[in-house]
Amino acid sequence: MMQNNNITPEMEDQMINQAYQNLLNIYLSSNHRKKVEIIDKAFKFARDAHKGIRRRSGEPYIMHPIAVATIVIQEIGLGSTSISAALLHDVVEDTDYTVEDIEAQFGHKIARIVDGLTKISGGIFGDQASLQAENFRKLLLTMGEDVRVVLIKMADRLHNMRTLQSMPPNKQYKIAGETLYVYAPLAHRLGLYAIKTELEDLSFKYNHPAEYQRIRSLIDASEESRNDLFARFAAPIRERLDNMGLVYEFNARVKSCYSIWNKMQKKHIPFEEVYDLYAARIVFECDDESAEKRICWNIYNEVTEVYTKHPDRVRDWLTTPKVNKYRALHVTVMGPDGNWVEVQIRSRKMDDTAERGFAAHWKYKIGEGEEEEELSRWLSTITDILKDPEPNAIDFLDTVKLNLFASEIVVFTPKGETITLPKGATILDLAFTLHTDLGTHCIAGKVNHKLKPLSYKLASGDQVEIISSNSQKPKPEWEKFVFTAKGKTRLRSALRHERRLTIEKGEKEFKDFLADHNIPLSNEVLSLAISRQNASNKEELFRMIGNDEIILNEDMVSHKEQGARFNWWRRNPFKGKEEPKKATNESSTAIDTKAIYRLTTRDGKSNYEIASCCHPIPGDDTVGFLTNSNKVIVHKMDCPTLARLKASHGSRLLQTQWEDHSDTFQATIHIEGIDQKGILQSIVNIISTNMSINMKQMNVTSDQGVFNCDLQVLVSDAQVVTNLCREIKKVKGVNSASRMN
Ligand code: MN
Repeated sequence: MMQNNNITPEMEDQMINQAYQNLLNIYLSSNHRKKVEIIDKAFKFARDAHKGIRRRSGEPYIMHPIAVATIVIQEIGLGSTSISAALLHDVVEDTDYTVEDIEAQFGHKIARIVDGLTKISGGIFGDQASLQAENFRKLLLTMGEDVRVVLIKMADRLHNMRTLQSMPPNKQYKIAGETLYVYAPLAHRLGLYAIKTELEDLSFKYNHPAEYQRIRSLIDASEESRNDLFARFAAPIRERLDNMGLVYEFNARVKSCYSIWNKMQKKHIPFEEVYDLYAARIVFECDDESAEKRICWNIYNEVTEVYTKHPDRVRDWLTTPKVNKYRALHVTVMGPDGNWVEVQIRSRKMDDTAERGFAAHWKYKIGEGEEEEELSRWLSTITDILKDPEPNAIDFLDTVKLNLFASEIVVFTPKGETITLPKGATILDLAFTLHTDLGTHCIAGKVNHKLKPLSYKLASGDQVEIISSNSQKPKPEWEKFVFTAKGKTRLRSALRHERRLTIEKGEKEFKDFLADHNIPLSNEVLSLAISRQNASNKEELFRMIGNDEIILNEDMVSHKEQGARFNWWRRNPFKGKEEPKKATNESSTAIDTKAIYRLTTRDGKSNYEIASCCHPIPGDDTVGFLTNSNKVIVHKMDCPTLARLKASHGSRLLQTQWEDHSDTFQATIHIEGIDQKGILQSIVNIISTNMSINMKQMNVTSDQGVFNCDLQVLVSDAQVVTNLCREIKKVKGVNSASRMN
C-alpha cells in the first residue's frame, strides 16, 4: 500500500470530514429540498462500513463514495435519494452488509438503487462477459423503474476514470476500453455532454498515452496562433452583437483530444490539417424563454452578414431538438483565413442543459415540492430515448453491440418491444421466435424500414417488422437459414404438418379424379401409379399430386390403351426441380439434381471444379452447374456468369454445400493505403507470422504516395480471408483491404 506514514489518523478524519462538508455545501446551495438528515445518516453508515479499508491510491475508501456523491449533485444534479444511494453504493458489494440491511435503515427506494448498482458492478467485459452483458441489457431496459441507477453508475465510473492512474496498466486498459464503448455513448444518450467528453478523453489518454500526449502538446503549441485567429474572426461579430444590446459570451471552444484524434484517424490526415480544431460559441443571457429562439436567429443573421455561410451546414436544433433535448443553432462560415468555422448559438439555459443534462433542470426549476414529479418526468424521457425504435435513436447500441453482446443480439419490434436472439439469427428465426404461425407464413422482413429476405442476418439495435402472407408455406430449404434451436424445432414440425396436409390433399385429388373417370380404386391401380411416377410409396405419390408436381390430365385418359391407362400422368413443367430423365439416366453415377450437392475432396480428389470466373472458396455461398459431360462447376452465388447460365440453363443448376475439406484455395486480396515506411513489412508479418498463411504472389505499386497491393494467398476458406482483411486493415496507413473476384 502506498499509505503515507506522515499522515496521522486525525488528519485523515479531517480530510474525510472536509470532503463530506464540501458535498453538503454544494447540496445546500442547490435548488433541492434540504433533506440533510438522510444524507448524514448514509454518510455515517458508509464511513463505518468501509472503516479501515483503503483504495489502491492509499486514501481511505470512503473518499470514493463521497466523491461519487459529489459528482451526483454537482455534475448530474440529482437530489438526496441519489446522494444517499451514491454514498452507500459500494457497501453491499464490499462489506458484510446486505440489501436488506440497507432497506431496514434507509427504506425501499434507496435500497433498490443500491441493489441495482451492486448487480451491475464489475466489468462488463472480461471473464463473465456474457453474464455482465445480460445484466447491462436488463439494466438499460428496466431503467424506467429507476434511471438513477445508471446516473449514479455514471458518476462512479467518472470518478474511477479520474483516479485510474493508481491502477495497474492492464486494468487501466480494460477499464478505459469499457468506458469508451459503453459509458461514453450512454452519457451522450443521456445528454451529459461534459461527462461524455471527459470520459472519452480519459479513455483515450489511457488507451493511447503517447498519442494523447502528442495531441495535447500540439493543441497547446497552436494556442497562440489560434487565439489571434479567433480574435480577428470574432471582432466584427462582437461589434454587431454589442449593437444589438445583448449580454453574451463569445468563446472559442477547442475540441477534445479524443475527437481531434478521431477525425485524424477517420480522414487520414495529420494534426495540421484538422481545420475545425475549435468551434466558436455564442452564449447569450435571456430571461424570457419565448424570445430565445428569435434572438438565436437574429444572431445568425448578423454572423452570416459578416461571413459567408457554408451552403449546407446549418443545423437548426431549435425547431426540432435532438432526442436528448439538445437545443442550439449551428452555422458554419468561412473565416478570414479561408477556413470553415462552426458557430454555435445558444441561450444560457440551452447551454446549461447541453453541458450538464439533468443538473440544468434543477437550476431552472421554479418553486419547490415537485421534486419527485420532475424527476419522474425526466426519467420517462430517458426511458423513451432508450426505447425509441427509430434506428438513429438507438445508435449507442450500435456502438456497443460488437463488444457487449458478443454472443447475443437485441432487436426491436415495431412496437418497441425487445427480443433477445443468439448472434447470427435471421429474420426467419425472429419470426419463429415470435410465433410458429408467423414463422410458417413469413415472406420477408423490414429491417430499419428496408425490405430484406428471410435469410437476412440481424444485428443488435435493428428494428424488425415481419411481413407474412396467408398463402406462404414453410419450405424445406428454410432449414439452411434457421439457426436458433426454437426456430429449427418449430420449422421441422411445421414442415411435417405441411407434408401431412399435402398428402391428404393429394390423396383426395387422386380419389376424386378416379371417381370422376369411373376407375375403381384398387391396389393394382395404386401400385401402377406409384411405379409410373417413380414414387417410393403411396405417401410420396400423394405428396407429389398434392404439391402439383404431377397434374392429372383428363385428355390423355381416353387415348391410352388398356394397361397403360395411367399414362395420363405427366410432370408439370412449371413445378418442382425435375429434369427430364434422359439427361441423367445415362450412367449409374448420375448426379441427382434435386438433392443438395456436397462439395467434397475425399481421397484428395475433388468431385467438382472451381469456376475460373469467380473463384469461390469454401465458406462462400455457391451454386453448381452441371455441364454436358456431367461435371459440376462451382460458381459463387453472385457470379455474373452464373446469372447468365441461370437464364439459359436453369435446370442444370445444383444446390451445393461445402463439406469438410483439407485443401487450400487461392484468393486475391486488394490492399490500398498511404505509403509509409514499414507498411509492407507490417502486412507481410501479419500474413506469414501472425496468421501463418501461405503467400503465393504479391504485386506492389506505389504512386505519388498511394500504396496499392494485389496479394495472392492460399487459404482453407472464406472466413480466413475475412479475418486476414480485418487484420491488414489495422496496419497503419492501410485504407482498405478486400477480397477480389
Ligand atoms: Mn464505486
